[in-house]
Amino acid sequence: MSSPSIENSTGLSLARRVAQLKPSVTVAFTNRAKAMKKDGKDVLIFAAGQPDFDTPQPIKDAAIRALQDGMTGYQPTLGPADVRETIAEKLTTENGIRGLTGDHVGISVGGKHALFIAMHCLLDSAEEGGAQNEVLLPVPAWVSYRPIAELAGGRVVELETQPTDDFKITPEQLADAITPRSRILVMNSPSNPCGTMYTPKELESLASVVAEKAATVAPGLVVLTDEIYEKITYGGIAHKSLGSFESIADRTLTINGMSKAFAMTGWRVGYSAMPGAFGKTFIKAMGTLQGQMTTNITAFVYPAVKEALTNPAVAEQVETMRQSFAKRATLIEGLLAEIPQLSCPKPTGAFYVFPDVGNLFGLTTPGGRTLGSAMDVCEALLDEVGVALVPGEDFGGCGEHCARISFACDEATIVDGMGRLKTFVEGLS
Ligand code: PMP
Ligand code: GLU
Repeated sequence: MSSPSIENSTGLSLARRVAQLKPSVTVAFTNRAKAMKKDGKDVLIFAAGQPDFDTPQPIKDAAIRALQDGMTGYQPTLGPADVRETIAEKLTTENGIRGLTGDHVGISVGGKHALFIAMHCLLDSAEEGGAQNEVLLPVPAWVSYRPIAELAGGRVVELETQPTDDFKITPEQLADAITPRSRILVMNSPSNPCGTMYTPKELESLASVVAEKAATVAPGLVVLTDEIYEKITYGGIAHKSLGSFESIADRTLTINGMSKAFAMTGWRVGYSAMPGAFGKTFIKAMGTLQGQMTTNITAFVYPAVKEALTNPAVAEQVETMRQSFAKRATLIEGLLAEIPQLSCPKPTGAFYVFPDVGNLFGLTTPGGRTLGSAMDVCEALLDEVGVALVPGEDFGGCGEHCARISFACDEATIVDGMGRLKTFVEGLS
């Protein structure tokens, strides 16, 4: 079926899969709010999924040194051996993932790129004869998983969660969802956008289900666990890596990156790792795909990655940033509790809260808009009181009733913004 959006009178057109691709709503709302601010509007931004801190100085210094030393040429596609080994070491000692060598690790242009190539290495579309092309996705989930899976030919099967369960799936739900068609299970704890985490015990139960189902109905199932927010935890729940459970280790690809923990979003560094013989084959395949796509990441960034992962002074700064997020989480939780029309689980990880704004649907703003969706709520908030959140529809499931608030901003902004939100809600009729 041709679509007017992809063809015009000149006969020129875009590929259907790209013409039909939805822009990332997180990126779109952030950019829109930033543009308003640049135009002099009084806008408080709670849309950006990035730390408001600068990258720790020793990391910058390492990159500057490498640049000055002439590290400006092509590098091995998945990264120099010593940096891949450093990441393997980090995942072994910090995350308890056994059996990793540098050959089980690949470095990509951000966690997003790592996810993109990983999914493309695993999924065949139904038309290509891929019977196992289903991607199990607990929702609400970060907006990019679905489009990336679909671009790779996958069919997304959503596993719905509720705020009353801290947006977490149950082992029974997972057991029911896994079939011979299941190829990938996406997990993301701490979660964007939910701001909640699975406990180690809950993860153990989910791992048992995966192991049991893999041994019976779904031998090709791979767990893709996105642990990019692992260092940003403050709710008393310890982060646990799914790849540390022996029973599923050899089918678990851990995806992580430098963006969030080290305040390095603009550097574009992500990495993936899977132990075992298949892990090595898989990572090598990711390298083949990456080699036809981007080749290595920016050369002089590699020593900075090594510095970030090994310098104790950097670890201290990461901990300082974590403490700031913890304080902000407590602050925002208290302020939101003063708005009884909005409710959300206690934030325990990442830097998001995802309140249910469904109680506002059907009400009218002082500016005369009737609110019918999370998108309407966020549009009105931005235009009428200068508060930028991200509407929850594209996160899937019950996200359609929610709005994401990122508290990667200073405490004064949080106080001001939540005050404006309260005034906005109280002004609805
Ligand atoms: N996973 C999640 C859950 C995220 O929120 C992000 C943020 N963009 C990413 C992956 C990708 O981050 P990056 O590409 O900057 O590593
Ligand atoms: N992950 C961040 C967010 O959710 C950054 C933007 C993006 O890549 O989606 O806002």
